[in-house]
Amino acid sequence: MRLVHELAEWRALTHDARARGARVGLVPTMGALHAGHESLIARARSACDVVIVTVFVNPRQFGDAADLDNYPRTLDADVEVCARAGADAVVAPALVDMWPSYPAPTATTVTVSSLTARWEGVGRPGHFDGVTSVVAKLFALTGPCAAYFGEKDFQQLVVVRQMVADLAFDVSVVGCPIVRDADGLALSSRNARLSADGRARALALSRAVGAVADAPLSASQARATVARALADPGLDVAYADVVDVGTLEPVDDSFSGAARVLVAAVVDGVRLLDNGPVTIVGDA
Ligand code: AMP
Repeated sequence: MRLVHELAEWRALTHDARARGARVGLVPTMGALHAGHESLIARARSACDVVIVTVFVNPRQFGDAADLDNYPRTLDADVEVCARAGADAVVAPALVDMWPSYPAPTATTVTVSSLTARWEGVGRPGHFDGVTSVVAKLFALTGPCAAYFGEKDFQQLVVVRQMVADLAFDVSVVGCPIVRDADGLALSSRNARLSADGRARALALSRAVGAVADAPLSASQARATVARALADPGLDVAYADVVDVGTLEPVDDSFSGAARVLVAAVVDGVRLLDNGPVTIVGDA
């Protein structure tokens, strides 16, 4: 497995692979890799000939300087995870190559203006501009590929799909299911910062998602069930709602069909996300 830092080598690697007729799979990450990331790499491995994992902690998607400073950076361990999971290359570009003007703004920003006003877009202004700008650049450097994203960041997945459709990137976006710990907590690089007590509290998120997963419910019933599961004064809930999977707008009681419950809460100062499917039956 190769470890690549230079943008030119990255471009050449994928260009040469396609020239041989190989299908290129891209797994974008910020490192601190865990079994959730490994599942993306395994999925790419099963469908592609050349699998590339990018590891880049993108400062432009962090609103909070402390969150950026505290973000774990574990490249040596990440390289081992990628090798074990069967990746062909880890691409870890330098900040100065990705964003030469940083910390000054770049002249060009990619904004997906619909889909980003709510949910993570509220608590983290500028976050999605940072995400779409860096993902557009990863796509430009990688070229035509299949790109693997986790449903763990459901809004991000929908936003990236929209960007790809609107800007005609030659990339097929593949959404992959959430990987959870045995107790239900969705794996996240940030979980390591939870105290034992905070971790116990955090389980309310997966319980809320699980509580609406099985039986069809009206939108109001689903909202009430989720709210009950999150009713812990130690949990600082940022949002909890039931949304249309395409528009990410809240559904009302006339809605019927597949929807998504989205939840976010801050525990021990750590922002945690979870989501899952819910079947809504309308009253109309
Ligand atoms: P990150 O490194 O946190 O930016 O995540 C990189 C990719 O891994 C994103 O597409 C995430 O949605 C995905 N991911 C993170 N955690 C999980 C998880 N628990 N299950 C599945 N995918 C995940």
